[in-house]
Amino acid sequence: MLAVFAHPDDESLACGGLLAWCAAIGVRVSLLCLTHGEHGRAGRGASGPGAGSLRAVRARELDAAAKELGIGRVRLLDHEDGMLPLILPDRLDADILDEIRRTGPAVVVTFDADGLYWHPDHIAVHERTTAVVTALGGRAPALFHVTLPPGAMRTVVDHAARVSAARGLSRPFARSILGVADADAFGAGAPAPTVVVHARGHAVRKLRALRCHRTQFDDSALRFVDEDDAPRLLGTEHYRRSEVGARGDTIVDRLAAEAAAGTGPPVRTASDDGPADASEA
Ligand SMILES: [Zn+2]
Repeated sequence: MLAVFAHPDDESLACGGLLAWCAAIGVRVSLLCLTHGEHGRAGRGASGPGAGSLRAVRARELDAAAKELGIGRVRLLDHEDGMLPLILPDRLDADILDEIRRTGPAVVVTFDADGLYWHPDHIAVHERTTAVVTALGGRAPALFHVTLPPGAMRTVVDHAARVSAARGLSRPFARSILGVADADAFGAGAPAPTVVVHARGHAVRKLRALRCHRTQFDDSALRFVDEDDAPRLLGTEHYRRSEVGARGDTIVDRLAAEAAAGTGPPVRTASDDGPADASEA
């Protein structure tokens, strides 16, 4: 399996559950990340690393998250954060094709056309990865597009508000998700999934991987998600099989069917009582 994303943290937020599950059952999982996210949030104010070293910090954060998820190979490229739509498509295509050739995946996973929340870099990665897989014709791997379940990040923010109030915290809790202020933007324009993966047994690893992205995570509503909450709040992932790429059954379909049949890995906590996109009781 090869995941193709734009910035460190995309892999964990979008499909950390699937990647961790695949790695746990012996699937060779690789990640191509096209930028260092060097223009992203620099962490918590003065205690953050500052823009100059953010590039190196985020590279280390990505390595730690990849270890947590069981990703065996990480290729982190030097394209400028925020500029992917302006880079010549041929350059991105060459990088994506090169990684497909090096890793020989049966399945490629990348953003859908909505770019999780209409992020231009994400949309560019969706377009270029889809174009590369299309051009491979009969030699193409299967292609899946990942989206955030609509409402899932709003549920995280609502959860953060309740936890914050219950703890009597004086400091206002962050309503953003990894630097994105509008939690409702995630998945709002998402095409309907064709495959829903309930990766609840791997949601704790997904949360731990997200925590590795400290510069983005520490000031985020995700900070209020603890490991008992992770299966319910982060365990459901949405995928759409692309019209292009290899046809036939894949590991993604098999894991989705396993989870649906209740034969997947045991759920870690008793609090797992609903999908991530359901409102909390
Ligand atoms: Zn991103």
